[in-house]
Amino acid sequence: AQERYAILRDKPAQARCGTEISLKMNAGLLADLPSLPNSGADAVGLFRTELQFLVQDRMPKRSDLVANYARVLDAAAGRKVYFRTLDIGSDKVMPYMNRPDEPNPAMGWRALRVGLDKPGVLRMQLQALIRAAKGRALSVMFPLVATASEFTQAHDTLLREIERERRLGHPLPEKLEVGAMLETPSLAYAPDSFFEAVDFISIGGNDLKQFFFAADRENELVRRRYDTLNVSFLTFLQVIVDRCHAAETDLSFCGEDAGRPIDALALAGIGITSLSMRPASIGPVKSLIRRANLIEVSELIARVQCRGLETARPALLDYVATLVD
Ligand code: PEP
Ligand code: MG
Repeated sequence: AQERYAILRDKPAQARCGTEISLKMNAGLLADLPSLPNSGADAVGLFRTELQFLVQDRMPKRSDLVANYARVLDAAAGRKVYFRTLDIGSDKVMPYMNRPDEPNPAMGWRALRVGLDKPGVLRMQLQALIRAAKGRALSVMFPLVATASEFTQAHDTLLREIERERRLGHPLPEKLEVGAMLETPSLAYAPDSFFEAVDFISIGGNDLKQFFFAADRENELVRRRYDTLNVSFLTFLQVIVDRCHAAETDLSFCGEDAGRPIDALALAGIGITSLSMRPASIGPVKSLIRRANLIEVSELIARVQCRGLETARPALLDYVATLVD
């Protein structure tokens, strides 16, 4: 199978109907970057910056961050890297930072909430990203944005740091893209002006699914209880697709489900044309997408919705069984 996927490496993830899906990879450390050319990914669709903070026992210095981000961009060799700002709290705890004891950390003081309430670390990180990307393109996304105003505040913080770097006489990124991770159902119903203000949206499916079904992603008793191909969830994802489409905003999906071929096919079928996943999943996902017709997948999902079924999975499995190699 490995060989079969290697042959596909330089081929596009183009479905039978002609639609091309952009397959990107998730990463978190510089050591992940060699997988970018090896996997044939178009870009790093999610770079989880907190990992660098978690693998050491003290707060990294700004200069460490600049050096690290610059090396990540060097290794990406012109392909885009979507840097996600710190997503700490919940399951990701830094031993050297004081944290309140929270009864429900996944819904607690985490991710962008920390960055907005105590902006010191976020500002340092943004400064490092701006410096590392001098003369190059910089793509930044903020995790767990729940409201339009949280995005505005984060965006303003970034613009202020750019202004500060300019005043200091430092060279700036040549291009800047700023987006939000959509990980709470609330953001799907933000005003139109939000969808117009962001350069892109990236669906954090792991958190979005946890909050949609109220099922803790860390809890073995419930974490597999609800199917990603549950029709309620797919219908909800279609709302996000439609809103991004209406605002002409780029949309991507970067949760673990994007790396499961059948799930990826359904996401592509409802109109999500950019999927970011672990590098090893790119071959299997590409192989299935190239054999499928997304118009048929879309019609199949619509039929399942009409019939009032709970999940589209059996129908998709039947469909996939009919595809020729
Ligand atoms: C997600 O929630 O889907 C996501 C990509 O972010 P993380 O898994 O790091 O929370
Ligand atoms: Mg998340």
